[in-house]
Amino acid sequence: MKNNYLLEAAECRYGAFGGRFMPEILMAPINELEKAFQASNRDPSFQSAFTALLKNYAGRPTALTEVTRFSEAIQGPRIFLKREDLLHTGAHKLNNALGQCLLAQRMGKTRIIAETGAGQHGVAMAAACAHLGLPCVIYMGSVDMERQAPNVMRMRLMGAEVVPVNNGTATLKDAVNEALRDWAESFPHSHYCLGSALGPHPYPEMVATFQSVIGKESRDQSIDLFSKNPDLVIACVGGGSNAIGIFSAFLNDPNVRLIGVEAGGHGSQLGEHAARFQAGTRGVLHGCYTYVLQDQHGQIAPTSSISAGLDYPAVGPQHAQLFEERRVEYVVASDDEAGAALKMLARTEGILPALESAHALAYLIKIAPSLPKEQYVLVNLSGRGDKDLPQIMKTYEK
Ligand SMILES: *Cc1c(COP(=O)(O)O)cnc(C)c1O
Repeated sequence: MKNNYLLEAAECRYGAFGGRFMPEILMAPINELEKAFQASNRDPSFQSAFTALLKNYAGRPTALTEVTRFSEAIQGPRIFLKREDLLHTGAHKLNNALGQCLLAQRMGKTRIIAETGAGQHGVAMAAACAHLGLPCVIYMGSVDMERQAPNVMRMRLMGAEVVPVNNGTATLKDAVNEALRDWAESFPHSHYCLGSALGPHPYPEMVATFQSVIGKESRDQSIDLFSKNPDLVIACVGGGSNAIGIFSAFLNDPNVRLIGVEAGGHGSQLGEHAARFQAGTRGVLHGCYTYVLQDQHGQIAPTSSISAGLDYPAVGPQHAQLFEERRVEYVVASDDEAGAALKMLARTEGILPALESAHALAYLIKIAPSLPKEQYVLVNLSGRGDKDLPQIMKTYEK
């Protein structure tokens, strides 16, 4: 039987989703990138350079931590966290940043363009570029720059040029537009480093490949601990890279239940959340056909979330296919639920999760009492919460 959620290379698609809906001018660099990516995938020297960077610079493998006091507090089963929060720069984004920077060097590119929402991808890019000696320009919505001021400072300290974007809603999608505009003029010497499993092919496949280390490690760690896969894996879904990174190791095991948690924001009206699978419809954004929040005219809808990293109107095309095939359940957690989950994990375990990751914990809190106690649940703790302190303090003031 054919698995439609695996990429059909000839069509650059996952079932109906994905593809390359790009202006003609960008097809040349996208084709060049695809060739280079496929070649790097088959090249053992590239793979060993990448593995060495992940180990010696990023700090892989990351720990798998059992959180018994958290589980007790929520009447849950056995719960383990995959600790991407312990990765250098504080989130899973560095896996992809290092992979793409290595690839850019292999392609002979001498300048990196990136965009960032939560700032985590920007920080990871700034770090990877500094370490590998590549100049780096990062576009960021001015609203996000304010929400994530400490990350802006980090990027600048590491030598990146951070360019504020005031167009549109001044958030991630507007920053992506600006980055693409730059790339259209600079691709002969610049690589555009997309931060999630989104955009035109080969980006979704390439980012998922660089993030698949999360799933591979988790599976090995599970086998060591239990001699089996987890019963349930939960991850938050912004563009979808941390989720596909951990899910990828378990997609072919039908005994593993997979749940992706989107941002429920502060209401169910269009504009009050970023729940693409609750309120979205099929459409095209930033080069790929997927689920998109849009109005009846196809105009992209505004989104809202307490976490900048989940605040995006489209989702990766592989998730769209996994949703339609019902292999993964997509659910939501609200701003308030994520805030409560963050506080619960911090108090019971001394781990301050990112607000994004707290959405995954929040959904687990909702279903924990109904899960069989002998089950073993794996949560991808995609990042740490230090960057969110200004946002968290604001909610305490309320
Ligand atoms: C960026 C980010 C996310 C969302 O991005 P995905 O591509 O969906 O993983 C989630 N968690 C953290 C900590 C992030 O920085």
